[in-house]
Amino acid sequence: MGLLDEVREFLAGLRRELPELAEAPARPRRSDRLRELFEARVRHWSGAMGVSPRRVCLKSQRTLWGSCSERGNVNFNRALAGAPAEVLDYVVIHELAHLREMNHSHRFWAVVEAWCPDQKRHRRWLRENSELLRCP
Ligand SMILES: [Zn+2]
Repeated sequence: MGLLDEVREFLAGLRRELPELAEAPARPRRSDRLRELFEARVRHWSGAMGVSPRRVCLKSQRTLWGSCSERGNVNFNRALAGAPAEVLDYVVIHELAHLREMNHSHRFWAVVEAWCPDQKRHRRWLRENSELLRCP
């Protein structure tokens, strides 16, 4: 189950318990909720890893899950919102690790592995399931 589904289920539960919430006006747009999801994960991991990304951008790309620019901007594929939460986190950790090592050297992978010991499993998941993820 993707993180968005978990959030959705949690909110549905809240609405059942607190019916007054159901009348809350102006649901945030889907794109805002996606942005909040990615920004929250970036905030979480950049705090833990001690890095400071400059800006978080969401993109709809066919081939890239994420990227990191020399200037410290990190970009993520919106389609990741449909991936399991730990896979989304792996991509966030991967891009933030580029703020330490702007390459795919052994040192880079050691940083990724330190924060995401299951990184190989998540990479395999991305390879095997990319067809399932559609850019919203
Ligand atoms: Zn990379």
